[in-house]
Amino acid sequence: MSAADQLRRLPKVDRTLEHPTLVELGVRRSVVRRLVAEAIDGERERMLAAIREAREPSPTVADLDAIATRVRARLDDWLTPHPVPVLNATGVVLHTNLGRAPLSAEARMAALAAAGNCDLELDLETGKRGSRLAHLRPLLAALFEAEDVLVVNNGAAALLLACSALGVPGGVALSRGQHVEIGDGFRVAEMAAAGGVPVIPIGSTNRTHLRDYEAALERASALLWVHRSNFEQTGFVVDVELATLGQLARDRNVPLIADLGSGLVDHPEVRASAPGEPSVTSYLEQGATIVGFSGDKLLGGPQAGLLAGSAAAIARCRRHPLARALRCGKLALAALHATAIAHLRPGAQTLPVQAMLEVGGDTLRRRAERLCAQLGWSPACVRESMATVGGGSLPGRELASIALVAPVGSAHDAAALLRRARPAMVARVHADELWIDLRTLVDVDDETVLAALRRL
Ligand SMILES: *Cc1c(COP(=O)(O)O)cnc(C)c1O
Repeated sequence: MSAADQLRRLPKVDRTLEHPTLVELGVRRSVVRRLVAEAIDGERERMLAAIREAREPSPTVADLDAIATRVRARLDDWLTPHPVPVLNATGVVLHTNLGRAPLSAEARMAALAAAGNCDLELDLETGKRGSRLAHLRPLLAALFEAEDVLVVNNGAAALLLACSALGVPGGVALSRGQHVEIGDGFRVAEMAAAGGVPVIPIGSTNRTHLRDYEAALERASALLWVHRSNFEQTGFVVDVELATLGQLARDRNVPLIADLGSGLVDHPEVRASAPGEPSVTSYLEQGATIVGFSGDKLLGGPQAGLLAGSAAAIARCRRHPLARALRCGKLALAALHATAIAHLRPGAQTLPVQAMLEVGGDTLRRRAERLCAQLGWSPACVRESMATVGGGSLPGRELASIALVAPVGSAHDAAALLRRARPAMVARVHADELWIDLRTLVDVDDETVLAALRRL
């Protein structure tokens, strides 16, 4: 049969819609029709490609049953709410692709409770209109030892808002050594300038001097400091210290905006788990006027962007029109409040991120041996591993960890099997071995881990 004849045998949309697999689905017909049309188009494309590449001069055509089955599978996927839960066995504590910080049980419950009607902007005492930050604001300010705070959608929004509100009219000066690119090709300097306030690059990649900042202030209205949250610089390097910039900002009466990335809280316990990572409070002490950071990095909360700093700077940000466009939703605010409460009780260790960073090697090893025995795997499956913090925190820092190396034939096939199961587990494939790192599974109970691994 010729290629043209084969193409003509493609099922028709109306016929396919009547297929038993696709009737009485309780789904809008217009939606099913669209999926059917897409499936038939896809099949036509596949056949044309096969003809073009002359792999098959006359490719076979999928029949009505096959198309209907494809449509049904696609529809089933649409009808499954995503994202679905994943067990993080990668050893990357803040895994951006896996939703960064897992929330504490209290934060999850708080978000669920706020999902219905809630007192988001109503003062229940007086019955008058209130602010959505009324309860959280003093608590966060105390936690970070700041005069005031503001919460927006994410870290990028915090940066954009601070630069837009405080960098007028002359723009913000940023060292070329701090032109950081974060995930997915986004560049901090471009995000900072997205509100129309120019970012003025100063110095060179490896060396920026105080005189560069001083010269920039002839035009710039603010100084911007971006923490190198995902890389390090060594060699022939000069940087101006943050405290020196803080002094310059005070002398010239301009704001110093600091984009910290990860929002470390300054408790001894928390510090110990992240040595070398600057805290929000330390940035303020060194003279930053305002510090922007994420809620879902080391803070261990939901996606949110926080600004902590002087009352005047926060007030300018709060009044900027972008503040309304970038504001934080009630689910995240509820989860953030529960997370902040956990930070008020350091040592209680109810935050999964904290537990992942702090869990000891012996604890991990004992758990690994127990799991191994229960799975009937050889004790040799328990191996020393290296976990990382990830998520743009503590570049280059590795955390000694313990992993189970699964006794499987093909690590890639086994990884796919774990990914496709529910709950899915995402493990690490390294040197054609399947590594299940236990450090990032501390918030998951043994039964759940065992159930996932028994599928292998
Ligand atoms: C992560 C990060 C951001 C962006 O924060 P999001 O919460 O992901 O929007 C901005 N700046 C720095 C330095 C970061 O590390």
